[in-house]
Formats: sequence, structure tokens, C-alpha cells
Amino acid sequence: MMSGFSRSYAAGLLAGAALLTTAACGSGSAETAAADGKPEVVAAFYPLQWLTEQVGGSDAHVSGLTAPGVEPHDLELGIQQVSELQKAALTVYIKGVQPAVDDAVDADKSFDAATAVKTLPAGAHEEEGGEEEHGHEVSYDPHLWLDPSRLATVATKLGERLAAADPAHAQGYKDRAAKTASALGALDQELAKGLSTCKTKTLVTAHEAFGYLADRYGLKQVGITLDPESEPSPARISEVAKLAKSEGVTTIFTESLVSPKVAEVLANEVGAKTAVLDPLESKPSGDYLSAMRDNLKTLQTALGCTA
Ligand SMILES: [Zn+2]
Repeated sequence: MMSGFSRSYAAGLLAGAALLTTAACGSGSAETAAADGKPEVVAAFYPLQWLTEQVGGSDAHVSGLTAPGVEPHDLELGIQQVSELQKAALTVYIKGVQPAVDDAVDADKSFDAATAVKTLPAGAHEEEGGEEEHGHEVSYDPHLWLDPSRLATVATKLGERLAAADPAHAQGYKDRAAKTASALGALDQELAKGLSTCKTKTLVTAHEAFGYLADRYGLKQVGITLDPESEPSPARISEVAKLAKSEGVTTIFTESLVSPKVAEVLANEVGAKTAVLDPLESKPSGDYLSAMRDNLKTLQTALGCTA
């Protein structure tokens, strides 16, 4: 009896050991990183993942925390993801986009892109649900990646940060950061030119994500709601409808991860169409640059731009 107990106890220990091994291998990349010496870098959501991959190149292992197709604001972190964050050499995020990530990052091993650029104040209108209703819990608007010129600045500073974290490959990080910043600079020029002569400057969006784009290119954003998950009040809808009519708005913008219902109701009331404008909170079918160029085309059609 005693030996039977020992055997199963030993088997239990072995199973436990096997589990531990599996767990260690499961998060595998950390071990790979130790083996090939490349730093493990976690990017909180798509635009930052794209940017970090460009700047990190083959010198870093870059992984994304938010799976494609997942709305990032309400991301909840599992035990595995928290441990991935803790093991990473660096986490790239924007404070105010994902409260769960804000809570989990280690200040010494993280890069908050919002500290790299001049931020804009949070949306002008207040949702009547109050603070609890939306994920943006900072005083500034966190959607800064929708201005390529700001994202270029983030690229440069991220390059410096990665160079400091991995000095052996400093030059590579800085070179790729410069190349990325220049690609973003070219995109910025295209947007500036393409949006310079438009019939209307008012951008009515389902989710107030385009403040930086509007600010950079002289447009005016009117967001129906601040939070993609919350339902606007009928009062807010009729307020926006009145404004849209008076400014000659022909298109109400919606986005792929959000139900188009609210935008459709509004478009109906205004006598406008709806079109999809991508806030790039999740991976697009191409990449950041091509999706922004698609956004430019959509905007030019909707706003009646002639350039
Ligand atoms: Zn957002």
C-alpha cells in the first residue's frame, strides 16, 4: 500500500514537473530570447505592434498583446499575458487606451508613447454615463497614432529606448527608427496634400478616435460617442444630426469593430451615407501605412476633396 502511494505520489510529482516544463515552453519565446539574446518586446495593440516591429527589426522578438479583431479598449489580461508582460524586456503601450495594461506594466520596463508627443485634451463632450462608462481614463485623448507625424516622433524615441535596452544593436534600432519616421513623414505629407481642399471639414465618427487626424489636417471631428461600446443617448444623436445637417455632412463614419447601427440611425436622420474609417485599433488587412492611405481615399470621397 505504502509503495503504491509513493508511486502515485511520484507520478504526481512527475506530472507536476511536466506541467511546469510545458508552462515554461509554452511561453517559449522568453527561452528563445535567452538563447539568442534578443530582447522580448511586447506591444499593447496593433499600431504600436506595427511600429515596434519596424523599429525592432530582426534584433528583437516583438509580440502583440491584443489579438487581431479584438477591440483593444476593454482588453482583459489573462495570467499568461500578465506573465508575458512581466518577463518582457520592454512593453510598448499608450496609457489611457487599455486600463488593464496600464495596471499591469512595470514603470521601469515600459515605454508609454503618450509621453513621447504633445497630447491633445480628451474629447470635448461628456458621455452621461460618467467616467465608468469608457476606457479612456486619462485627461488626454490617447488615439495619437492616427497622426503619422506624431507616430514618427514615437518611432524615433522608441528607437532610442530600444537602443538603450539593447546597446549591442543600438545602431540597428536607430537606423530602422529613422527609416520608419521617414515613411511616416511621407504619409503625413500625402494626407496633408490630399485633405487640403475639401468641401466640408466636418468628420462625424461613431467613436471619437480621430481627434489627432482632425487636428493635424485641419478637420473638425464630431464623435457620436467616446466609447465604442456605449450607446449614445437619443439627445446626443439628435444634437449631432442637427450639426451634421448644418455643416453639409454627406457621410457618417463607422468602423469595422463597432456595430454600425448608431451611425446608420444617424445617417438616416441626416440623409447621409455611411462609410468605414479605420481607427487602426486592430490589425487592418494591409498594414498601418496602407490602411491610412485607404482612410485618406475614404475621407477624400466623403468630404469632397479635390487635391
Ligand atoms: Zn479608441
